[in-house]
Formats: sequence, structure tokens, C-alpha cells
Amino acid sequence: MNDDLRALIRTIPDYPKPGIQFRDITTLLLDGPGFAATIDRMAAAIGPAPDLIAGIEARGFIFGAALAQKLGCGLVLLRKQNKLPGRVTGINYALEYGHDRIEMHADAVTPDSRVLLVDDLIATGGTALAGVELLRSAGATVSGASFVIDLPDLGGAARLRAAGVAVSALVAFEGD
Ligand code: AMP
Repeated sequence: MNDDLRALIRTIPDYPKPGIQFRDITTLLLDGPGFAATIDRMAAAIGPAPDLIAGIEARGFIFGAALAQKLGCGLVLLRKQNKLPGRVTGINYALEYGHDRIEMHADAVTPDSRVLLVDDLIATGGTALAGVELLRSAGATVSGASFVIDLPDLGGAARLRAAGVAVSALVAFEGD
């Protein structure tokens, strides 16, 4: 399924460190019909259009913005620390080594917002789960999460589903 899109994703071994197979979507973006098909199929895989799409910095902005445009909904940016100019709400989350933080504008969502989370890839799910927690802490309903790529062996999609989030992804790379 989606083998045409899979063929457009470049794998760079041992980046950013030995043992990691980096799934590089820049080659997919270079292909106009492939990029358009990616957005069409992400849109087809989700249910009713949400009120907002939440894109995760940075590659989630690319797919999230295009998907928001197609669905006619707004876009909220989940950004790295200290990037947003207004009043923010944020959440710290654990990485393999150390921790990170994502933030959004405190007034970006309201308790009646239905929000779809978007990123290029889900691996362990740490980033996406932090996004879900951040959106929920602001009162929003997370209607689902949509990715181009799933690395199922790292368990992130399963973790998101266990947290009550419907997950869709176009391409899975097993064994990563
Ligand atoms: P995680 O929080 O472990 O689910 O990691 C997801 C985030 O890290 C996404 O924003 C991805 O862009 C990036 N990422 C993690 N693993 C890879 C990989 N093997 N190839 C490309 N990007 C990755």
C-alpha cells in the first residue's frame, strides 16, 4: 500500500547517529505529484474534518499546513521552546537522552476545538504524546493523529492508540 510514496522516501543510514535509519521526506517533497498524493491520501484516511490541525515543528508544519489548506481548517503550531511571540503554554517530555519541550500559544485552542495532530513520522511516540497532552491540557479534543510514516516496532502508534487517539499513517517501515 502506498508503495509509490514509499519509493519517494529516502533512507539515510546511521543519521544522526550510528544504527538509526533516517527516513528522509525531503525527496518526497521534491516530487510534486508525490507530495500532492500524500496530502490527498492523508485527507482520505481521516474521518470528518477537524476544526484545527496541530503541526509539530518542523516537518509537521509542512504536511499539516498542506492538509489544513485541503480540508479548509485552521493550523496551530506546536513549536520548540521560546519560538512563539505570544503567551504560551508548554509541556516537557522525555527523550532517549535528556528532555525537550513543545509550546503553543495559550489562546490557540478552545475547549470546543476538535484538533488533528500531524507530523511526518511517529517513532517512539514521545513527541506526539506530548502534543496530545498539551492540546488536552488546554481543553481541546484530539480527534486523531496523522503521519506520513510509522515505525511500528518503536511502538509510538500503539502508545497513542492506548491514549485514546485514532492513528493513521501512509507508510510503515518495519524493523526500525
Ligand atoms: P518520536 O518522538 O520518537 O516518535 O520521534 C518522532 C520525531 O522524531 C518526528 O518529529 C520525526 O521527524 C523524528 N524522527 C524520529 N525517528 C526518525 C527517523 N528514523 N527518521 C526520520 N525522522 C525521525
